[in-house]
Amino acid sequence: MKFYSTNKQVQEVSFEDAVVQSLPEDNGLYFPSSIHEIDSDFLEKLSDISLGELGYELLNPYCEGSIPSEKLKEIAYEAFNFDIPLVSLGDKLYSLELFHGPTYAFKDVGARFLARCLGYFNTKQSRESLILVATSGDTGGAVAAGFHNVPGVKVVILYPSGKVSELQEKQLTTLGGNITALEVDGTFDDCQDLVKKAFLDSDLKSLGLSSANSINIARWMPQSIYFWWAYKQAQDKNNLVFSIPSGNYGNITSGMLAKKMGLPIKRFIAASNANDVIPRYLITGQYDPRPTVHTYSNAMDVNNPSNYVRLLELYHHKLENILKDLEGFQLDDEATLRAMQDGLSRYNYTLDPHGAIGYNSLQKKLAPGETGVFLETAHPCKFAPIMEKANAKWTPPAFAESLMNRKKQSILISRKYDDFKSFLTEF
Ligand SMILES: *Cc1c(COP(=O)(O)O)cnc(C)c1O
Repeated sequence: MKFYSTNKQVQEVSFEDAVVQSLPEDNGLYFPSSIHEIDSDFLEKLSDISLGELGYELLNPYCEGSIPSEKLKEIAYEAFNFDIPLVSLGDKLYSLELFHGPTYAFKDVGARFLARCLGYFNTKQSRESLILVATSGDTGGAVAAGFHNVPGVKVVILYPSGKVSELQEKQLTTLGGNITALEVDGTFDDCQDLVKKAFLDSDLKSLGLSSANSINIARWMPQSIYFWWAYKQAQDKNNLVFSIPSGNYGNITSGMLAKKMGLPIKRFIAASNANDVIPRYLITGQYDPRPTVHTYSNAMDVNNPSNYVRLLELYHHKLENILKDLEGFQLDDEATLRAMQDGLSRYNYTLDPHGAIGYNSLQKKLAPGETGVFLETAHPCKFAPIMEKANAKWTPPAFAESLMNRKKQSILISRKYDDFKSFLTEF
């Protein structure tokens, strides 16, 4: 399959080139030239297949021509090797727990697949690459773990100083080796802009840059798998509504991709914190990013989501089409704490601040006859101070404690592109 740029100023490329280049030269995003539709009997087959096999089946049509089937199977089975349980809270309400991977957030799904694809392409071409990744909290950790000690790959992670949780910071600053953390005096959007500028800078061509953000199709597309996995596990499969705590909109647009491929999902809710550019867009029709606000759900502190263009592409740039499938929802910090407390008192279920926004949106927006699934996007242990504010209980996994004792190593830089560029040229 070929991939085109959403700005349509450059030629279509193979899966391999789209992954390695990550960002097309015309500053669009890569998008598959056709959406592979799954036969309806595939839904019946779902009950018998493993997560690895599901990943292979869904991704194979897109990787054809770049990764031989047998190799892809191996990659998928290795990458998708942890549990993604759908937990019933009763009352036609489910939590899809995406935090059982090695770094305790859904980013593991895409990061592990991408790391293996790039590793395969690099070995085949004897190429070295430098991965740039901007993180609002969880991507950095997942990418650091996914790429640690992968030969031929160096990783530079940019994160907003003081705006990620302590555990998230430890995850991305303590591995060392081929992983370097840059602590940027700015917001996530500043980090994302620096990365995008570096990709478009012809002076840096020789560095072999790739991106591990959801702008990369090999990070973005695998995330559609767990929507199928949720469907497989749901008792009540009719009128499923997915509520997705959203920041950069990679997760929700991958769910929409699943729907376009044939998964019977009724509709989606974009659950956001005070950084609510998409919910406002859905109401006014104006895309109007405002300065980023720092919130309790820090992984969603994004004001100009990259994947907005993929949302437009999926619905042929027609707001009326988008509105048939998508509703917006916004929750401030105080209401997020109340939602966390509500989850505990009503269902005895511990919600992290991100999942809590997804949960609350279903409480407010689910219609009679619908079944709601919210995505629990990260483990509560990553947000200890907020959990305490909400008086929520949670058990810190053993890994968290040992991680907290490790020494942070980061390099402070400003948000000026010239500083970042000179760092990269001397790196
Ligand atoms: C990354 C992240 C999000 C937002 O996902 P997007 O794909 O950027 O919309 C939500 N919650 C958590 C915990 C995250 O790590």
